Amino acid sequence: MQPTPDTKDWTWTLTQRCEECGLTAGQVDIAEIPDKAEAAAAEWVQILTSSPAVAARPYPDVWSPLEYGAHVRDVYRLFDARLALMLVEDYPTFENWDQDETAISEQYIESDPDQVAAELAAAAESFVTRLRSLSPAQLERRGRRSDGAEFTVTTFAQYFLHDVVHHLWDVTGQQEI
Ligand SMILES: [Zn+2]
Repeated sequence: MQPTPDTKDWTWTLTQRCEECGLTAGQVDIAEIPDKAEAAAAEWVQILTSSPAVAARPYPDVWSPLEYGAHVRDVYRLFDARLALMLVEDYPTFENWDQDETAISEQYIESDPDQVAAELAAAAESFVTRLRSLSPAQLERRGRRSDGAEFTVTTFAQYFLHDVVHHLWDVTGQQEI
């Protein structure tokens, strides 16, 4: 059994508090996002390397912490690549990314948790370094998803932060405070 595909548009999280994970991503100062992205990665590494039941699904159709961790590793990689694109191209359109298809084709469920943790840490370091290098003018650069949703570098980073924080909530049930 595979989890229900997530086809929801999460861009509302930029303007409203998410009642599930507790984050109001649109109000997070861009200057704080590198540290928060780094802290979230550290939490993911901790989960992947120290949870005894890391590969167990809580329900047959809900991802295990390992599968979520593999997804989050790919989210760091994807957002790093898209951010790099926004910095060199004017208003690029991002290629569509089917995260549920990726989970199957990349065999998240068969992953090695220590390897995923190491890859997640490396992806996060690259992304956080790129975030820290941004100049004020670059924060206004824009890009769009293939579904038409538009982002500036700032809202793109805020959207990213919600994604990784929300998935921590998926696994731990602990809200942002
Ligand atoms: Zn959320």
